[in-house]
Amino acid sequence: MQPTQPQLHLGNLEGALRNWVRLQEDYDLYCCIVDWHALTTMIERTQEIYENSIGIATDYLAAGIDPDRSVIFIQSQVKEHAELYLLLSMVTPLGWLERVPTYKEKRDSLEGKAEASHGLLGYPVLQAADILLYKPYGVPVGKDQIPHLELTREIARRFNHLYGDTFPIIENVLSDVPIMMGIDGRKMSKSYDNAIYIADDEDTTAKKMMGAFTDPLKIRKDDPGHPEGCAIFHLHAVYNKSNVATVEVECRAGQRGCVQCKKEAIEAVNAALRPIRERRKEWERNREGVLTVLKEGAERARVVASETMMEARRAMGLP
Ligand code: ADP
Repeated sequence: MQPTQPQLHLGNLEGALRNWVRLQEDYDLYCCIVDWHALTTMIERTQEIYENSIGIATDYLAAGIDPDRSVIFIQSQVKEHAELYLLLSMVTPLGWLERVPTYKEKRDSLEGKAEASHGLLGYPVLQAADILLYKPYGVPVGKDQIPHLELTREIARRFNHLYGDTFPIIENVLSDVPIMMGIDGRKMSKSYDNAIYIADDEDTTAKKMMGAFTDPLKIRKDDPGHPEGCAIFHLHAVYNKSNVATVEVECRAGQRGCVQCKKEAIEAVNAALRPIRERRKEWERNREGVLTVLKEGAERARVVASETMMEARRAMGLP
């Protein structure tokens, strides 16, 4: 996750983080906070990035990542990420990067119409380095990240072809909610101002959800509704699984008004987030504890990352 804000939203939680919590039962998990990536869009606000990183670590812990089992760390504290990025950038043709769909999108949305940097174009190579340093089986992400993972595979194949088998060909690991919808019906994203945050309180969550996009064709309470595309129905589907079938039938039959439906969804969302929010408050009061987790995490990550770097250098004949 990029620390472009001090907190994560429900898209990050349901698309990725919730899966991490499950996966840590069976796998070694490396949970990186990618502060160098945040530089690609925050070059004039670099002072905020470190504090944001601590906020993201707090969300990881609140969601249930166990720091004794899993490794939580900040990218820039493990310099091997920069070294592997440099080596991989040499085997990555420019055309591959110019074709990445998010490159154009990000370039066009840069703050203050700044010019796109070398770093922004190279972003997916840095991401490949972040991944391949830990030689993982797979990467648990939301669906929007699949083009980047494809590029990571291409880069690994190219490296392996040139210098011998060094890196694994990783798997995409998607969660049950590959795309979480925001309250405006688009993909939930911090850049669209349509997100509910883990750190929001219950009233803020309720206020946001009361203003959510529903079904423009359902004007009166007893008009039949169309749950597909309705942001509130999507939240029922994620957070109110035991009732979602009833919600759908009643909505289609015009037996349920949007206001009541929103109230029930708010209750479900707030109930599901309550334990996570409580844990977040505890970790917020324990900043030293979060810093210790990050320090120890970087030490553990460095052990694996430096081993992989030795192999990569050796493969290239750069001992
Ligand atoms: P954002 O889109 O808000 O900038 P990031 O790009 O930092 O978030 O994404 C971090 C992780 O969260 C990635 O694994 C991404 O796939 C996942 N993610 C972000 N938004 C969503 C969403 N709306 N639905 C599912 N997963 C998401």
